[in-house]
Amino acid sequence: MDVIHWGYYNRFKKLSTIQMSRCCVCEKYSECIIERWGSWFYLQFIPFWLAAKGYLFTWKDCGHSMGMDDRSAVMRYKEEHVDTELFVVPPCNQLKPLELERPTPFNLKNILILSSMVLIIAFAIYWALVLAPR
Ligand SMILES: [Zn+2]
Repeated sequence: MDVIHWGYYNRFKKLSTIQMSRCCVCEKYSECIIERWGSWFYLQFIPFWLAAKGYLFTWKDCGHSMGMDDRSAVMRYKEEHVDTELFVVPPCNQLKPLELERPTPFNLKNILILSSMVLIIAFAIYWALVLAPR
């Protein structure tokens, strides 16, 4: 685990799920999860700038993913499908394989935030039950 936490990290946000969609890689039908991703440059837990962004389409059963990162395609998809919430899986020839690393939820940042929150809540309960003037 890095103590000096800097570099590029991908962030994902799930936007929608398409019920039946044909995988562009293996052609099996399954649910397709649509996510927005962004590659952020972090310096000591703080996201500084967005280096790249796009959309990722992941088929649930086979786990294959295809994505888009081309600026004009991303903008068009945002205008036509994200802003309108009419989500579709684009034709396979508009997508390409993207290898996007997913950060684990149990990184140093989350552990620090979680443990300090637990301490604050524990102290608040202790204060309310024991220390508070009656
Ligand atoms: Zn597949």
